[in-house]
Amino acid sequence: MSNCIFCKIVAGEIPATKIYEDDDVVAFNDIRPLAPVHFMIVPKKHVESLLAAEPVDQALLGKILLLAPKLARENGLGAGFKTSINTGKAGGQEVFHLHVHVYGHPN
Ligand code: 5GP
Ligand code: ZN
Repeated sequence: MSNCIFCKIVAGEIPATKIYEDDDVVAFNDIRPLAPVHFMIVPKKHVESLLAAEPVDQALLGKILLLAPKLARENGLGAGFKTSINTGKAGGQEVFHLHVHVYGHPN
């Protein structure tokens, strides 16, 4: 998606502090953190939101959810953290490229 800010981050076209990357996903720090540690995990594939996710995305979504505790531990949140997925305008979503927020206080 040429107009999508997270696709541009995935492609390296705009800067972000990436904390993880593999063939399918990227995780990077939120530019307006809600907590001392706050990163987002996004699929490299442009999926607009959970409302647009399809059965073919099942493994990708599972991978993202399992990455959340792994990256949380590696970033000081091993005792616990918050996750959120804002979905649709009515759900508070601002960037329409699916992302899982992971945030909390180092513990
Ligand atoms: P949401 O769509 O989940 O409501 O919010 C999008 C999130 O993306 C916000 O927390 C916002 O701070 C973050 N964000 C928006 N634009 C950028 C950007 O260009 N870079 C980074 N790293 N985060 C962004
Ligand atoms: Zn995108």
